[in-house]
Amino acid sequence: MTMLFKRMAIVGVGLIGGSLAQAVKEKKIVGEVVGVGRSEERLKRACKSGIIDSYTAQMDDSLGTIDLVVVATPVGMIADLIEKMIPFLKEGTVITDVGSVKKRVVEQVEGFMPDTLHFVGGHPIAGTENSGFEHSFPSLFENRKCILTPVESTNQQALAQVQELWSRVGSIVVCLNCDQHDEILAAVSHLPHVIAFSMVNCLLTIEGFEENIFSFSAGGFKDFTRIAGSDSAMWRDIALMNREKVLSMIERFQCYLNELKEAIEKGDGEKLFSEFHKSRTFKQLMK
Ligand code: NAP
Repeated sequence: MTMLFKRMAIVGVGLIGGSLAQAVKEKKIVGEVVGVGRSEERLKRACKSGIIDSYTAQMDDSLGTIDLVVVATPVGMIADLIEKMIPFLKEGTVITDVGSVKKRVVEQVEGFMPDTLHFVGGHPIAGTENSGFEHSFPSLFENRKCILTPVESTNQQALAQVQELWSRVGSIVVCLNCDQHDEILAAVSHLPHVIAFSMVNCLLTIEGFEENIFSFSAGGFKDFTRIAGSDSAMWRDIALMNREKVLSMIERFQCYLNELKEAIEKGDGEKLFSEFHKSRTFKQLMK
């Protein structure tokens, strides 16, 4: 297989950035991976671990030979970082991101992107509750969906290259518009995280027991604590950047919770059984 890009910059060498760096190096998809970040000390460690080949903690002329930029920082700063990089990039450079919210990021970036550079919004549906390159691994994207969100002005060649990048690290690439992406992700990812944070915090408010109440929890609750252990800055950014869609999902969830509450209040066992059975049947269908 031929090399897709000679020099790739990964801005934010964390879980996702570090995993992509390892995957493209392992599969020889790019010639060199340059880590770009805020902490020279952490970039140096990522370089020593072999995750990236070289690094810079500055946006400067050293970025002038980069062919592909992948921005993998928390979603609230993606557009700002791209804007800061633009003056140093050469004509034809492809820029993409991995942010979990697309509409605001894509709108912001398209607002200042010059014709000479090509942006393609992206989001690999792969990850864990852990953060940092220390937890990164090259097979993270295998058999996972990666959503790309091209807009009317998206350069078709750049789109094809970004599609090929994700396909070659093992992802199943799907193109959606930004609204569809944000709506789906609000439902299957953003709301569940908000619920997990709420569950854990709500239980933290319960007082009066001698022993830590969490010590009585079984396997099921561990899934909530695992999800609620996700990075706070990342999830703050996601909730605020996808505000409308997340709020609409929270409202939908509140309505449904009220339905269940009402059934319990009324002692409506039939309703409760049928609602619980719906989820159980759905789980069996998913197997
Ligand atoms: P992460 O492990 O915390 O990595 C974030 C990276 O961004 C780190 O390298 C961090 O630098 C860097 N960073 C943070 N603040 C910065 C700043 N102000 N300036 C420059 N760099 C900064 O997070 P992640 O899980 O890889 O997530 C990264 C992106 O991927 C997010 O946009 C997220 O929405 C998206 N995403 C996450 C998942 C998931 O499940 N985790 C899945 C798909 C997409 P340091 O190394 O110095 O801390």
